[in-house]
Amino acid sequence: MERLQKVMAHCGVASRRKSEELIQAGRVTVNGKKVTELGVKVNPSDKIEVDGVPIYQEQPVYYLFYKPKNVISAVSDDKDRPVVNDYFTRVPERIFPVGRLDYDTSGLLLMTNDGEFANLLTHPKHEIDKVYVAKVKGIATKEELKPLRNGVRIDGRKTSPARFKVLSTDHRKGTSVVELIIHEGRNHQVKNMLAAVGFPVMKLKREKVGTLDLIGLNPGDYRELTKKEVSQLY
Ligand code: URA
Repeated sequence: MERLQKVMAHCGVASRRKSEELIQAGRVTVNGKKVTELGVKVNPSDKIEVDGVPIYQEQPVYYLFYKPKNVISAVSDDKDRPVVNDYFTRVPERIFPVGRLDYDTSGLLLMTNDGEFANLLTHPKHEIDKVYVAKVKGIATKEELKPLRNGVRIDGRKTSPARFKVLSTDHRKGTSVVELIIHEGRNHQVKNMLAAVGFPVMKLKREKVGTLDLIGLNPGDYRELTKKEVSQLY
């Protein structure tokens, strides 16, 4: 059972707030009965109508996707470049990515048709750890990466403190592999943070979101989240 306004928002009728207004204005019926109070809860089998027009209740679905690099984190692209939804042609629900990974970044991306879930997870207050592994130009040392621990200034605003580890260095090639753990999701954040301490990113992968990882998956693969996994995030 879910609150009526939440289901309406989820189905794309309007925002939760606007849906509440529609209910209070007497424009919504559940199984043929007008509802004007906000506490009402509905089942997926209940028939909801707004101004006499039925709304279709899609069941919420949640997928963990291993995004390959060179794929856009969007539902469609006007230039016909590969998008993440190309991998989900067999999923009938209208799913979309939760946040974004850059075109050239690979790794863990959640996909859902649940707008509330997506909003919650991408909200800066939702402090869920994301683990990235970056191959960078230069020989990274703990000392040089230390400013990341306090946060670095990007576009005039300091990032939250990040944790990091130098996983390996290749002195012959002059490159390093660095793990960075952040919980924000600003644009190009990992690339910008590492560039800010002098290590431009050559390759980037998101390995973990919260307790979720990519174990058992290859680029382009996906699996459904278990109920337990969803409840740990939501
Ligand atoms: N940080 C980046 O710079 N790129 C991503 O794709 C994700 C995080």
